Amino acid sequence: MPSLSERLLAWFDSFGRHDLPWQVDRTPYSVWVSEIMLQQTQVATVIPYFERFISQFTSVSVLAAAAQDGVLHLWSGLGYYARGRNLHRAAQMIVANHNGELPRDIETLLALPGIGRSTAGAILALSHGDRHPILDGNVKRVLARFHEVSGWTGEEAVQKKLWLHAETHTPNLRVAAYTQAIMDLGATLCVRSKPDCGRCPLHADCRANAHGTQSQFPESKPRKPLPQKYTRFLLVKLDGQLLLRRRPPVGIWGGLWCFPEIDDDDEVGVWCERHGLTLTQSVVEQSPFAHTFTHFRLSITPLECVVKLSHPSVMDSDEWLWYNTSQPVKVGLAKPVSKLLADIANPNNREDTL
Ligand code: SF4
Repeated sequence: MPSLSERLLAWFDSFGRHDLPWQVDRTPYSVWVSEIMLQQTQVATVIPYFERFISQFTSVSVLAAAAQDGVLHLWSGLGYYARGRNLHRAAQMIVANHNGELPRDIETLLALPGIGRSTAGAILALSHGDRHPILDGNVKRVLARFHEVSGWTGEEAVQKKLWLHAETHTPNLRVAAYTQAIMDLGATLCVRSKPDCGRCPLHADCRANAHGTQSQFPESKPRKPLPQKYTRFLLVKLDGQLLLRRRPPVGIWGGLWCFPEIDDDDEVGVWCERHGLTLTQSVVEQSPFAHTFTHFRLSITPLECVVKLSHPSVMDSDEWLWYNTSQPVKVGLAKPVSKLLADIANPNNREDTL
């Protein structure tokens, strides 16, 4: 079977993209600008920005002499403005230290602001045909699937493996075409969801295709464990009713009805007294259960307490509601509150989740 690069190049000749604005009259400067714009931005979005930018800042020295405001003005809407600022600063350094020519040496290129290893490799490979591998997002996806490289691509060890594969597959000849080809493959066939493996020139020996594991590679960033928080809900019972309190309009469960919460260092009896209530039985602590928000996990410990009213007027404000589980009123309830109310209404259903 022909090598990966041979198959990719043959595919590229027939199906690759050959008329992108930065492929016409290619110079190291135009490749550099396009590569920086293409970081984090789709090709279709970049095209008009690239054309405006290159027609106003026609060379490294014109860009270096421009005011930063003028550069950022043409970057407006493209996002990630540090890219525009770095491009401008790097142009000034190229004029000051390299006679206005982008360095041909990869280490010197890497010393310029905003140019990482893959961008430097792309500039040299695409504009001079020098043999340097690249590893942008598209290439990472292709190689992670082709070789079934496990682990999140942001991890150093995983990156090392991918760079090694990228290095191995980069051919000695037609480096510019190969570099464009592997980027195009990732952008058009080996796309993030539903890759078109049937039309891919690599399908015969792609491991992910053989095992049907395309959706598992590359692996996503591992989720950090969510921070754990704790709270205590007071299940204040009075003549078959439970006390609810309306939450402030902003924050978690904003505007919904919830059981009153009590701090760890607050005594239930003291809390009751402050709210015109008197405990008539001992407080019963139930098993805690978990509720998960997007940003944290909340462990909720319900404290059951039976009370009588000592100063009824304290509960007059519309912040409070005596909720009757056998004749429930239609109010917005925080999710764990509905769960607890359902458990109270049907004690046999209760299952502890912690
Ligand atoms: S066969 Fe499918 S998964 Fe493998 S490189 Fe081609 S498009 Fe990507």
